[in-house]
Amino acid sequence: MDSQNLFAQAQKVIPGGVNSPVRAFRAVGGTPLFIREAAGATVVDTDGNEYIDYVASWGPMILGHSRPEVVAAIRDAAGRGTSYGAPTASEIGMAERLVAAFPSIEMVRMVSSGTEATMTAIRLARGWTNRDKIVKFAGCYHGHADSLLVKAGSGVATLGIPGSPGVPKALAELTITLPYNDAEQARSLMARHGEGIACIIVEPVAGNMGVVPPRPGFLETLREITQASGALLIFDEVITGFRLAYGGWQTLTGMVPDLTCLGKIVGGGLPVGALGGRREIMEHLAPTGPVYQAGTLSGNPLAMAAGIATLDILRGMPYSKIDRMAAELCAGFLDLFREKGIPVRINRVGSMFTLFFTADEVVDFDSASRCDTGLFARFFRGMLAAGINLAPAQFEAGFVSFAHTDAEIARTVDACARTLKSL
Ligand SMILES: *Cc1c(COP(=O)(O)O)cnc(C)c1O
Repeated sequence: MDSQNLFAQAQKVIPGGVNSPVRAFRAVGGTPLFIREAAGATVVDTDGNEYIDYVASWGPMILGHSRPEVVAAIRDAAGRGTSYGAPTASEIGMAERLVAAFPSIEMVRMVSSGTEATMTAIRLARGWTNRDKIVKFAGCYHGHADSLLVKAGSGVATLGIPGSPGVPKALAELTITLPYNDAEQARSLMARHGEGIACIIVEPVAGNMGVVPPRPGFLETLREITQASGALLIFDEVITGFRLAYGGWQTLTGMVPDLTCLGKIVGGGLPVGALGGRREIMEHLAPTGPVYQAGTLSGNPLAMAAGIATLDILRGMPYSKIDRMAAELCAGFLDLFREKGIPVRINRVGSMFTLFFTADEVVDFDSASRCDTGLFARFFRGMLAAGINLAPAQFEAGFVSFAHTDAEIARTVDACARTLKSL
């Protein structure tokens, strides 16, 4: 059955036909691809069309799809039962790997999504500090927990949802939002209100307003002002964890947050999130501490198997290879747009990138919002027709995986050239 029929059918029984809003193609028009299967860097839709994939399930699939070792690990685990509601050795294996990869992490709690990881992190920060207010940055997305759905990026930005209906005003008022990359505003806020603030949560490299790297000194300032006021600094490395290095942004920079949230890649394509940090703070979680958090499927054996298999392959992988391929892809795009005379900006950090349809530098959510999203939509549809699967929204990242080949990168640049002819 083709995607169009499936989409019509899905809309009868699933709101918008999708189980996560950005999948619905609202920002770009047309029908979302219903995927039949995927292998390596290729996804195949139910109509049998093949696409070179840069969505990567929105980040997790850094080894490409259906990586044989990961599939085998899942099969093997499934044969021994899919969930026990009791501890397993594989959870220790996962925690030990995360502790080894992140100097700031001494203990780990596994959960089933990035949303749960960030939700737990802010509850823990509030419980640890006995303070209620939290600080986040406009355009950063930390999952869909109530307190974090304020000026959020990703689908919230794409769909133009201003605040977050359903989030009690009293709760939203406890979330203070600042512009990303503005160290001075953060400093002055903490100077005035620091004693009431439990934590600052930040994507160390923003990925959910499109890719926006941190300005030199921005994160360092956050570290300094949280330390001075007794608030916790939470790095949301759900995207950047194991994407930019074996470890996270903090591994590359030597920064030490109090808590780190992980997800996406650490689950190897299965539903996973993780929260880690200093022992004394982590032991404030139940059952050793008073801050409650739980999960029927937390540390699920299939998810641990997929995650561990993924991490063990990644440990030996040359990240410079995917960084180089992403750089070549972006350089190819830039040349073509320059030739065509359409102003664009490309932000790239390692293997994650966003092509912004704007003439101006993109450093925060305001500058990202000035993009020509109509032009992005036409570009997206052209690329899709040419066999390239990009994220169906301007405010998202593209991802190069270890399964991509130089030939696929070249074919993608070629598809861009054909798309631009008719743009
Ligand atoms: C995807 C994402 C989340 C939420 O993770 P889910 O598994 O979708 O709940 C949180 N933070 C960041 C930075 C993300 O990119």
